[in-house]
Amino acid sequence: MKIFSVILFLLSITACNKADKQRLESKKQKTYTLVIHGGAGNITKENLSNERWLLYQEGLKIALDSGYAILESGHHALGAVTRAISILEDNPLFNAGKGSVYNIHGKQEMDASIMDGSTLNSGAVAGVNNIKNPIIAAHWVMYGSQHAILSGNGAKQFAIENGLEIVDSTYFYTKRRYDYWKSLKDKEKLRLDHDKLSFEDETSIWEHKKYGTVGAVALDQYGNIVAGTSTGGLTNKQYGRIGDSPIVGAGTYANNKTCGVSCTGTGEYFIRTLAAHEVSSLVQYKNMPIQEATDSVIYGRISTLGGDGGMIALDRYGNVAYSFNTSGMFRAFKRSDGTTKIEAFK
Ligand code: ASP
Repeated sequence: MKIFSVILFLLSITACNKADKQRLESKKQKTYTLVIHGGAGNITKENLSNERWLLYQEGLKIALDSGYAILESGHHALGAVTRAISILEDNPLFNAGKGSVYNIHGKQEMDASIMDGSTLNSGAVAGVNNIKNPIIAAHWVMYGSQHAILSGNGAKQFAIENGLEIVDSTYFYTKRRYDYWKSLKDKEKLRLDHDKLSFEDETSIWEHKKYGTVGAVALDQYGNIVAGTSTGGLTNKQYGRIGDSPIVGAGTYANNKTCGVSCTGTGEYFIRTLAAHEVSSLVQYKNMPIQEATDSVIYGRISTLGGDGGMIALDRYGNVAYSFNTSGMFRAFKRSDGTTKIEAFK
């Protein structure tokens, strides 16, 4: 039974039935595009070594090519977004899936969401730590449950019942993230015990600040827009904190009539401004070009409140937009006209 439902699910993300295909064939448009991000933050040429930048480029390229191949072969944007994000989740460089950051108790808890702009249907998981690919679980929540967000143990149980891949929470460990969390803890202790934290320490904590969340937005050959986001959240987060990434309208939004958006940054600000939905509203009601709309939200609402981060967006014509008020953002896109770009810096 489980195997059967998994097969059905896999089919749903990569294929349409025959009747659908014929109907869609007649609706084919020329442009299709995939845009992805690997988080924003203090990413500059000075603090990212060439070696490391090459690794990021390689990671982004693999995810981009693999998601794009799904669009190219005429499948639905849902498959492209799920594929690209799950590859980034498997890559320990990014703060999602394996390589997620640690919370105040030294644990990893992940959030993810996906939204289908053709139906306005969505699915999300929050505070999970045993589901290998949170984005696949989010997709499955959308596809196979009556709910929009499942959290913690309930999400795990749902994933088990539906045959998704479950791993021991140690799978998500990376030394780099753990050591960083540990160093913050030690500095915090120093501050609490002796108030000895130097200005340099404070600065170096800030300088490490990177929001390595991952996300993708795709426009397929039939005009469907899908957006998804996956994250480990913020280092040292407390009390079962959930960020913007699993919240539709905040960290993720898609509507075939307007655009798709995926965000990264201090989630609380993206929740309070309903950042992703706001971009869609500006496109819909003000007829704003997508780049102007994303800039208006990032440099307007988000910056004014004191939040930082960025977003990627894609409109129904295949126009790509990036906006970030941090020094950099890992980002890449590939379009059916042959354009492809992978960037990190301003
Ligand atoms: N937006 C994510 C959150 O607040 C963090 C990130 O983008 O890295 O959970």
